Parts: sequence; structure tokens; C-alpha cells
Amino acid sequence: MRALYIGRFQPYHLGHHFVIKEIASNVDEVIICIGSAQRSHELENPFTAGERYLMISKSLRDDGISNFYIVPILDVNWNAVWVSHVESLVPPVDVVFTNNPLIERLFEERGYEVHAPLLFNRKEYSGSEIRRRMLNNENWAVLVPDAVTEVIKEIDGLRRIENLRRSDTE
Ligand code: ATP
Ligand code: MG
Repeated sequence: MRALYIGRFQPYHLGHHFVIKEIASNVDEVIICIGSAQRSHELENPFTAGERYLMISKSLRDDGISNFYIVPILDVNWNAVWVSHVESLVPPVDVVFTNNPLIERLFEERGYEVHAPLLFNRKEYSGSEIRRRMLNNENWAVLVPDAVTEVIKEIDGLRRIENLRRSDTE
């Protein structure tokens, strides 16, 4: 059985990590789609698809998980064709895991079995909360796997986010 999991992973955090580990232990393979792959260098989307790819693959490998494939997916801004777009890029899947109601709806309309994983500490394990902490110099590293902290350090991610906040009128 092959499962699909979709997120933006800006950044990949422990909520995603717990869910994907759980899914990986119950299926043969997990296909992880990096959504909005073309976006980066924005306060809401600071990291490139390649950087997010590293965060996910290193974190899972650190935990001994290897039955996953990562596929970056560009936005098409056309909900009615979005599932076909995803299908054109990923291996065939039997089941989709998501907590996003629009994604759930779109896949269900195309006949997929969709499950909603449990949310882990959603207040803190949240991309928005982590980006907020990064901007405010608060402790964000406790909310992500160690490998994510390392990748962000390697790419000087905090400085990037600092720079993104500056406007050219200052
Ligand atoms: P953002 O705040 O930037 O939207 P996010 O934390 O919601 O970030 P996404 O990449 O948007 O992360 O979410 C991908 C998927 O992961 C969604 O289905 C989302 O519901 C799920 N998810 C997010 N946080 C958690 C969590 N703490 N536990 C379980 N699933 C989560
Ligand atoms: Mg989200």
C-alpha cells in the first residue's frame, strides 16, 4: 500500500514528523509532496523546495525511515485540475493523508480514500508559529527535528528571514 502526504513544510516540523513516521510504519511507501514548490524567499514561504527536501529527508533518515519518496509540486492555481497535476508527478497511491479540508475534498471527488491524521500539539507544532518565533528570536528549534535546525543553519535561514522582513523604505 502506498500513501500520499502533502504539505508546504515551511519549515518541516515535529508535527509533520510524528505523522509521517506513523504513516510510514503502516504502509509500504509514503510519497511526500512538497506543495507550493516554486515559492521561497517570502515571509510565509521562506525556504526553497530543495531546502525543504533536505529537511524532510535528513530528519526521516536520522530516525531510520527509508520507505519514502519526496516529490516537489508546483502550484497550478486551478483547483479543478490540481489532483490530475499531482497524479502526473507521483507514483500511483492508494490513500491520501491530509488535515486540509480543500485537499480532502479535491481528492475525495476524484475517488480517493482520504484520512485525517491526528494533530500533535498543533498550537506549537505549526509552521506559522515557528516562523513567528524565528522573527522574534524565540526558541523555535525545540519544535523541529535536529536535522531541520542544521539545514537552517547551513543555509543561514534566520538571516534570510530577517532580511525578508526589512522593507526598502527603512
Ligand atoms: P503553516 O502554519 O505554514 O500553514 P503547517 O504547520 O500548517 O504550516 P503545512 O505544511 O501547511 O504545515 O501542513 C501540512 C500538513 O501537516 C497539513 O495537513 C497540516 O494539517 C498538517 N499538520 C500541521 N501541523 C501538524 C501537527 N502539529 N500535527 C499533525 N499534523 C500537522
Ligand atoms: Mg498549514
